[in-house]
Amino acid sequence: MIQKILIANRGEIALRIIRACREMGIKSVAVYSQADKDSMHVALADEAYCVGTAKSADSYLKIDQIIAAAEVGNVDAVHPGYGFLAENAHFNEVCRSSGFEFIGPSPQAMEKLGDKNTARSMAIANDVPVVPGSDGLIDANTDATQIARDIGFPVLIKATAGGGGKGMRVAETEADLETALNQARTEAGAAFGNSGVYLERYVTSPRHVEVQVIADNHGNVCHLFERDCSVQRRHQKLIEEAPSPNLPESRRKAICDAAVRMIRGAEYGNAATVEFIVDKNDDFFFIEVNARIQVEHPVTEAITGIDLIKEQIRVASGEKLSFAQDDVSCTGHAIECRINAENPDKNFMPNPGKITRLFTPGGLGVRFDSHVYGGYSVPPHYDSMIAKLIVHRPTREEAIATMRRALLEMQVEGIETTASFHDKVLQHPEFIAGTHDTKFVEREFTG
Ligand code: ADP
Repeated sequence: MIQKILIANRGEIALRIIRACREMGIKSVAVYSQADKDSMHVALADEAYCVGTAKSADSYLKIDQIIAAAEVGNVDAVHPGYGFLAENAHFNEVCRSSGFEFIGPSPQAMEKLGDKNTARSMAIANDVPVVPGSDGLIDANTDATQIARDIGFPVLIKATAGGGGKGMRVAETEADLETALNQARTEAGAAFGNSGVYLERYVTSPRHVEVQVIADNHGNVCHLFERDCSVQRRHQKLIEEAPSPNLPESRRKAICDAAVRMIRGAEYGNAATVEFIVDKNDDFFFIEVNARIQVEHPVTEAITGIDLIKEQIRVASGEKLSFAQDDVSCTGHAIECRINAENPDKNFMPNPGKITRLFTPGGLGVRFDSHVYGGYSVPPHYDSMIAKLIVHRPTREEAIATMRRALLEMQVEGIETTASFHDKVLQHPEFIAGTHDTKFVEREFTG
């Protein structure tokens, strides 16, 4: 049984994991950088160890320091959260070989799914629809032009090691192809040390729909329905909701079943998200698997009533899932807005600094997951997300109304946030109709 967990992360997700641990009677150990010494995750964990200086590369990404903290803290397991080392198969392996359970899938499953081209082949093998594209990587011996012609322009060049939208380029026509290929390869090589790329048809006006899956190590795999994350800017999600608006019931079932097939086929244990794009005909195509808990997991917790972090910990302890697929039902509608320390009127420029006053929203159906407090200084070194505001109401219409009043209640002084942007999105006819796609923000808000 797991009795003590080190959390290899910071911010709201570190708090989220500390909360689950405390409710389960598990001790928690925080790690922190010098810049985070006044952070709530340090204050709320049972123990905390400094692992280095402000820069992530010198602290939250320092595997040897984190393992040393796990040894000193005498923990049983490590929860990586999201970002930082969460999808690093080497860290996963080092945790296990040092005697700590890693709260996530096996390093083998993580590695295979982390390579997008391999994941794409696995999807094909498990009868999960993929975007029409190249059969493997494009190398010097492949005729990229002929493949792109067969797929049909525009085509999307994707880095097999890609993440965060890096190494992705659109070629609108044959004339753009070579330059776009070279740009994608160079960017991927610099960012990931792997310049492998492949081609996919560029789906116009897609919606981003992803399925939350959880699997134990006894062969049980369940989905917890889907989330729509089409409100994005530069491939970064801003608003997520569950269930997906306007997705016909038969498609919902088909996409959730496909996600379960994918995870079962990958021999995967723990929480995963299978991401798809959905086109205008409601046809869906696999894009990638995220082998970790995601930022937007609370909307799924809201509609299913399942605590995903606790379930992750139970599965990592070797227990079976505490429910079967038939026990999982979807109630009401949930929306999450990511509150970032950014100025939406200045092209979302990061705006770290001191929060001089904070009032947090509340009331029926409101959840506020955050690590910040009045007097806290948002450091400039990390992700700009300072809070997640989540609402859960019986209908989408009510959820939108509750979110709007909660955004109004929330008062953050001293720094700019994205709250005003969210309020504009929530009033937009396309969002209200639920017909928006992944280009909606660019088209309607940022030009
Ligand atoms: P990353 O891991 O770099 O974020 P993804 O494969 O998850 O890359 O894709 C990021 C986003 O790019 C998706 O949410 C979707 O909006 C868009 N996208 C990905 N593949 C396609 C495609 N074939 N056609 C159109 N848009 C795509």
